[in-house]
Amino acid sequence: MKVCKDISSLKKEIKGSSFKRKTIGFIPTMGALHKGHLSLIRRAREENDIVVVSIFVNPKQFTNSQDLAKYPQTLEQDISLIHEVADVLFIPTADEMYPHGFDSMVHTGRLSEIVEGKFRPGHFDGMATVVLKLFNIISPTRAYFGKKDYQQYLIVSQFVRDFNLPIEIIGCETVRELSGLAMSSRNTRLSDDEQEKACVIFRALSVGKSFIERGEDTIEKIRHEMQVILDREPMWKTEYLEIRNTSDFSEKETVSSDVVILIAGFLGDVRLIDNVEVAFKA
Ligand code: AMP
Repeated sequence: MKVCKDISSLKKEIKGSSFKRKTIGFIPTMGALHKGHLSLIRRAREENDIVVVSIFVNPKQFTNSQDLAKYPQTLEQDISLIHEVADVLFIPTADEMYPHGFDSMVHTGRLSEIVEGKFRPGHFDGMATVVLKLFNIISPTRAYFGKKDYQQYLIVSQFVRDFNLPIEIIGCETVRELSGLAMSSRNTRLSDDEQEKACVIFRALSVGKSFIERGEDTIEKIRHEMQVILDREPMWKTEYLEIRNTSDFSEKETVSSDVVILIAGFLGDVRLIDNVEVAFKA
Protein backbone atom coordinates (compact mmCIF):
# COMPACT_ATOMS: atom_id res chain seq x y z
CA MET A 1 0.00 0.00 0.00
CA LYS A 2 1.36 3.41 -1.01
CA VAL A 3 0.93 6.20 1.50
CA CYS A 4 0.49 9.67 -0.05
CA LYS A 5 0.53 12.85 2.01
CA ASP A 6 -0.08 15.40 -0.72
CA ILE A 7 -2.45 15.77 -3.64
CA SER A 8 0.19 15.75 -6.37
CA SER A 9 1.80 12.48 -5.26
CA LEU A 10 -1.64 10.89 -4.88
CA LYS A 11 -2.62 11.99 -8.38
CA LYS A 12 0.61 10.56 -9.79
CA GLU A 13 -0.04 7.30 -8.00
CA ILE A 14 -3.61 6.79 -9.22
CA LYS A 15 -3.38 8.44 -12.62
CA GLY A 16 -0.10 6.69 -13.49
CA SER A 17 -0.11 4.54 -16.61
CA SER A 18 -0.36 1.26 -14.71
CA PHE A 19 -3.72 2.33 -13.27
CA LYS A 20 -5.23 3.58 -16.57
CA ARG A 21 -8.74 2.32 -17.39
CA LYS A 22 -8.99 0.64 -14.04
CA THR A 23 -11.95 1.07 -11.73
CA ILE A 24 -11.27 2.91 -8.49
CA GLY A 25 -13.16 2.21 -5.27
CA PHE A 26 -12.82 4.98 -2.68
CA ILE A 27 -13.51 4.99 1.07
CA PRO A 28 -13.25 8.35 2.84
CA THR A 29 -12.63 8.03 6.61
CA MET A 30 -11.43 10.02 9.58
CA GLY A 31 -9.15 7.23 10.81
CA ALA A 32 -9.10 5.27 14.09
CA LEU A 33 -10.12 2.46 11.78
CA HIS A 34 -12.11 -0.58 12.95
CA LYS A 35 -13.97 -3.54 11.45
CA GLY A 36 -16.78 -1.24 10.24
CA HIS A 37 -14.34 0.69 8.04
CA LEU A 38 -12.70 -2.58 7.02
CA SER A 39 -16.01 -3.96 5.75
CA LEU A 40 -16.29 -0.97 3.36
CA ILE A 41 -12.69 -1.42 2.22
CA ARG A 42 -13.17 -5.17 1.66
CA ARG A 43 -16.32 -4.53 -0.38
CA ALA A 44 -14.42 -1.98 -2.50
CA ARG A 45 -11.65 -4.58 -2.96
CA GLU A 46 -14.17 -7.07 -4.36
CA GLU A 47 -15.76 -4.59 -6.76
CA ASN A 48 -12.82 -2.51 -8.09
CA ASP A 49 -9.31 -2.79 -9.52
CA ILE A 50 -7.82 -0.12 -7.27
CA VAL A 51 -8.80 0.70 -3.69
CA VAL A 52 -8.07 4.16 -2.29
CA VAL A 53 -8.70 5.02 1.37
CA SER A 54 -8.38 8.51 2.82
CA ILE A 55 -7.84 9.43 6.45
CA PHE A 56 -8.57 13.08 7.14
CA VAL A 57 -10.08 14.51 10.30
CA ASN A 58 -11.93 17.27 8.52
CA PRO A 59 -12.05 20.40 10.72
CA LYS A 60 -14.88 21.88 8.62
CA GLN A 61 -17.36 19.22 9.67
CA PHE A 62 -16.81 19.53 13.42
CA THR A 63 -19.26 21.83 15.17
CA ASN A 64 -17.60 21.31 18.55
CA SER A 65 -13.89 22.12 18.92
CA GLN A 66 -13.55 19.77 21.93
CA ASP A 67 -14.87 16.88 19.83
CA LEU A 68 -12.28 17.71 17.14
CA ALA A 69 -9.44 17.98 19.68
CA LYS A 70 -10.40 14.64 21.26
CA TYR A 71 -10.90 12.76 17.98
CA PRO A 72 -8.77 9.57 18.23
CA GLN A 73 -5.71 9.36 15.92
CA THR A 74 -4.07 5.94 15.50
CA LEU A 75 -2.25 6.11 12.15
CA GLU A 76 0.25 3.25 12.73
CA GLN A 77 -2.55 0.89 13.78
CA ASP A 78 -4.72 2.06 10.85
CA ILE A 79 -1.94 1.27 8.37
CA SER A 80 -1.41 -2.21 9.75
CA LEU A 81 -5.17 -2.91 9.63
CA ILE A 82 -5.62 -2.00 5.95
CA HIS A 83 -2.24 -2.38 4.26
CA GLU A 84 -3.10 -5.76 2.76
CA VAL A 85 -6.53 -4.69 1.48
CA ALA A 86 -6.03 -1.16 0.13
CA ASP A 87 -3.66 0.01 -2.63
CA VAL A 88 -3.33 3.67 -1.73
CA LEU A 89 -3.79 5.58 1.54
CA PHE A 90 -4.21 9.35 1.30
CA ILE A 91 -3.43 11.26 4.53
CA PRO A 92 -3.44 14.97 3.71
CA THR A 93 -2.89 17.71 6.28
CA ALA A 94 -5.53 20.40 6.86
CA ASP A 95 -3.25 22.89 5.04
CA GLU A 96 -3.09 20.59 2.02
CA MET A 97 -6.89 20.38 1.82
CA TYR A 98 -7.61 23.98 2.81
CA PRO A 99 -4.63 26.10 1.75
CA HIS A 100 -4.40 29.78 2.67
CA GLY A 101 -7.18 31.61 0.79
CA PHE A 102 -9.57 28.66 0.54
CA ASP A 103 -13.00 30.31 0.26
CA SER A 104 -15.73 27.96 -1.03
CA MET A 105 -18.22 25.60 0.59
CA VAL A 106 -20.78 23.14 -0.70
CA HIS A 107 -24.23 24.07 0.61
CA THR A 108 -26.44 21.03 1.10
CA GLY A 109 -30.21 21.49 1.28
CA ARG A 110 -33.27 20.31 3.22
CA LEU A 111 -31.76 16.95 4.16
CA SER A 112 -28.96 18.63 6.07
CA GLU A 113 -31.24 20.81 8.19
CA ILE A 114 -33.24 18.03 9.85
CA VAL A 115 -32.50 15.23 12.38
CA GLU A 116 -28.68 15.24 12.83
CA GLY A 117 -28.42 18.58 11.02
CA LYS A 118 -30.58 20.30 13.66
CA PHE A 119 -28.01 19.49 16.33
CA ARG A 120 -24.90 20.04 14.19
CA PRO A 121 -25.56 23.08 12.00
CA GLY A 122 -22.95 23.32 9.24
CA HIS A 123 -21.76 19.74 9.76
CA PHE A 124 -23.12 18.36 6.49
CA ASP A 125 -21.87 21.34 4.44
CA GLY A 126 -18.39 20.71 5.86
CA MET A 127 -18.68 17.00 5.12
CA ALA A 128 -19.95 17.57 1.57
CA THR A 129 -17.17 20.11 0.92
CA VAL A 130 -14.40 17.67 1.79
CA VAL A 131 -16.12 14.76 0.03
CA LEU A 132 -16.46 16.81 -3.16
CA LYS A 133 -12.78 17.78 -2.98
CA LEU A 134 -11.76 14.15 -2.44
CA PHE A 135 -14.00 13.00 -5.30
CA ASN A 136 -12.39 15.56 -7.62
CA ILE A 137 -8.87 14.63 -6.55
CA ILE A 138 -9.40 10.86 -6.81
CA SER A 139 -12.12 10.51 -9.52
CA PRO A 140 -13.39 7.23 -8.12
CA THR A 141 -15.69 4.89 -10.01
CA ARG A 142 -17.48 3.96 -6.78
CA ALA A 143 -17.44 5.45 -3.29
CA TYR A 144 -18.43 3.48 -0.19
CA PHE A 145 -20.33 4.95 2.74
CA GLY A 146 -21.60 3.25 5.90
CA LYS A 147 -25.29 3.34 6.72
CA LYS A 148 -24.12 3.84 10.32
CA ASP A 149 -24.12 7.50 9.22
CA TYR A 150 -27.43 7.13 7.39
CA GLN A 151 -28.09 10.82 6.78
CA GLN A 152 -24.55 11.34 5.46
CA TYR A 153 -25.12 8.48 3.00
CA LEU A 154 -28.42 10.05 1.82
CA ILE A 155 -26.89 13.53 1.48
CA VAL A 156 -23.88 12.30 -0.49
CA SER A 157 -26.20 10.28 -2.78
CA GLN A 158 -28.30 13.44 -3.28
CA PHE A 159 -25.44 15.78 -4.11
CA VAL A 160 -23.86 13.27 -6.49
CA ARG A 161 -27.21 13.23 -8.33
CA ASP A 162 -27.66 17.01 -8.11
CA PHE A 163 -24.17 17.80 -9.45
CA ASN A 164 -24.14 14.96 -12.03
CA LEU A 165 -20.99 13.45 -10.56
CA PRO A 166 -20.11 10.24 -12.42
CA ILE A 167 -19.65 8.23 -9.22
CA GLU A 168 -21.69 5.33 -7.89
CA ILE A 169 -22.46 5.70 -4.19
CA ILE A 170 -22.65 2.38 -2.35
CA GLY A 171 -24.32 2.19 1.08
CA CYS A 172 -22.90 -0.54 3.35
CA GLU A 173 -24.51 -2.21 6.36
CA THR A 174 -23.51 -1.22 9.90
CA VAL A 175 -20.98 -3.53 11.57
CA ARG A 176 -21.68 -4.14 15.27
CA GLU A 177 -19.97 -5.58 18.32
CA LEU A 178 -21.47 -8.89 19.56
CA SER A 179 -23.33 -6.76 22.10
CA GLY A 180 -25.10 -4.88 19.29
CA LEU A 181 -23.17 -1.65 19.85
CA ALA A 182 -22.37 -0.10 16.45
CA MET A 183 -18.63 0.06 15.90
CA SER A 184 -17.39 3.64 16.00
CA SER A 185 -14.05 5.39 16.38
CA ARG A 186 -15.62 7.25 19.30
CA ASN A 187 -16.17 3.98 21.21
CA THR A 188 -12.46 4.04 22.11
CA ARG A 189 -13.28 6.96 24.39
CA LEU A 190 -15.68 4.76 26.39
CA SER A 191 -14.59 2.52 29.28
CA ASP A 192 -15.67 -1.17 29.20
CA ASP A 193 -18.46 -0.31 31.60
CA GLU A 194 -19.59 2.63 29.44
CA GLN A 195 -19.51 0.45 26.30
CA GLU A 196 -21.86 -1.94 28.04
CA LYS A 197 -24.15 0.94 28.98
CA ALA A 198 -24.06 2.23 25.40
CA CYS A 199 -25.79 -1.00 24.29
CA VAL A 200 -29.01 0.67 25.45
CA ILE A 201 -29.08 2.37 22.02
CA PHE A 202 -29.26 -0.92 20.12
CA ARG A 203 -31.73 -2.35 22.66
CA ALA A 204 -34.07 0.58 22.04
CA LEU A 205 -33.63 0.35 18.25
CA SER A 206 -34.37 -3.39 18.33
CA VAL A 207 -37.53 -2.87 20.38
CA GLY A 208 -38.70 -0.15 17.95
CA LYS A 209 -38.02 -2.43 15.01
CA SER A 210 -39.89 -5.39 16.50
CA PHE A 211 -42.88 -3.17 17.40
CA ILE A 212 -43.15 -2.14 13.74
CA GLU A 213 -42.62 -5.69 12.51
CA ARG A 214 -45.44 -6.85 14.77
CA GLY A 215 -47.79 -4.32 13.14
CA GLU A 216 -47.62 -1.27 15.42
CA ASP A 217 -47.77 1.72 13.10
CA THR A 218 -48.29 4.77 15.35
CA ILE A 219 -44.95 6.58 15.40
CA GLU A 220 -45.62 8.37 18.71
CA LYS A 221 -46.36 5.06 20.45
CA ILE A 222 -43.22 3.40 19.08
CA ARG A 223 -41.07 6.38 20.07
CA HIS A 224 -42.57 6.38 23.57
CA GLU A 225 -41.78 2.67 24.13
CA MET A 226 -38.21 3.21 22.91
CA GLN A 227 -37.71 6.28 25.08
CA VAL A 228 -38.80 4.29 28.16
CA ILE A 229 -35.91 1.90 27.50
CA LEU A 230 -33.39 4.72 26.93
CA ASP A 231 -34.53 6.47 30.12
CA ARG A 232 -33.69 3.36 32.17
CA GLU A 233 -29.96 4.05 31.58
CA PRO A 234 -29.09 7.04 33.80
CA MET A 235 -25.79 7.73 32.00
CA TRP A 236 -27.53 8.09 28.62
CA LYS A 237 -28.94 11.45 27.45
CA THR A 238 -31.04 11.31 24.28
CA GLU A 239 -30.59 14.12 21.74
CA TYR A 240 -33.08 12.78 19.23
CA LEU A 241 -35.10 9.68 18.52
CA GLU A 242 -36.71 9.87 15.10
CA ILE A 243 -38.50 7.59 12.67
CA ARG A 244 -38.17 8.71 9.05
CA ASN A 245 -38.95 7.34 5.60
CA THR A 246 -35.80 5.74 4.17
CA SER A 247 -36.15 7.26 0.71
CA ASP A 248 -36.59 10.98 1.42
CA PHE A 249 -36.32 11.24 5.21
CA SER A 250 -39.86 12.62 5.46
CA GLU A 251 -41.70 12.32 8.78
CA LYS A 252 -45.16 10.77 9.07
CA GLU A 253 -47.55 10.05 11.94
CA THR A 254 -47.85 6.40 10.98
CA VAL A 255 -45.52 3.86 9.42
CA SER A 256 -46.62 3.46 5.80
CA SER A 257 -43.35 2.70 3.97
CA ASP A 258 -39.82 1.48 4.73
CA VAL A 259 -38.47 3.52 7.63
CA VAL A 260 -35.22 4.15 9.45
CA ILE A 261 -35.20 4.63 13.23
CA LEU A 262 -32.41 7.00 14.29
CA ILE A 263 -31.01 7.75 17.73
CA ALA A 264 -28.33 10.19 18.87
CA GLY A 265 -27.21 11.20 22.31
CA PHE A 266 -24.47 11.27 24.87
CA LEU A 267 -23.01 8.60 27.09
CA GLY A 268 -21.06 10.76 29.50
CA ASP A 269 -19.32 13.25 27.21
CA VAL A 270 -19.14 10.95 24.17
CA ARG A 271 -21.71 11.57 21.44
CA LEU A 272 -22.99 8.42 19.75
CA ILE A 273 -25.39 7.82 16.85
CA ASP A 274 -27.00 4.68 15.49
CA ASN A 275 -29.98 3.57 13.41
CA VAL A 276 -31.82 0.55 12.02
CA GLU A 277 -33.84 0.21 8.84
CA VAL A 278 -37.25 -1.48 9.01
CA ALA A 279 -38.94 -2.86 5.90
CA PHE A 280 -42.66 -2.03 5.60
CA LYS A 281 -45.09 -4.92 5.32
CA ALA A 282 -48.56 -3.78 4.27
P1 AMP B 1 -15.68 7.89 9.81
O1 AMP B 1 -14.24 7.51 9.89
O2 AMP B 1 -16.39 7.77 11.12
O3 AMP B 1 -15.89 9.20 9.10
O4 AMP B 1 -16.35 6.78 8.89
C1 AMP B 1 -15.91 6.54 7.58
C2 AMP B 1 -16.92 5.67 6.89
O5 AMP B 1 -17.05 4.44 7.60
C3 AMP B 1 -18.32 6.32 6.87
O6 AMP B 1 -18.93 6.05 5.62
C4 AMP B 1 -19.02 5.59 7.99
O7 AMP B 1 -20.42 5.54 7.83
C5 AMP B 1 -18.42 4.21 7.89
N1 AMP B 1 -18.56 3.50 9.16
C6 AMP B 1 -18.22 3.94 10.39
N2 AMP B 1 -18.56 3.02 11.33
C7 AMP B 1 -19.16 2.00 10.67
C8 AMP B 1 -19.74 0.76 11.07
N3 AMP B 1 -19.81 0.39 12.35
N4 AMP B 1 -20.24 -0.06 10.12
C9 AMP B 1 -20.20 0.30 8.80
N5 AMP B 1 -19.65 1.46 8.36
C10 AMP B 1 -19.14 2.30 9.28
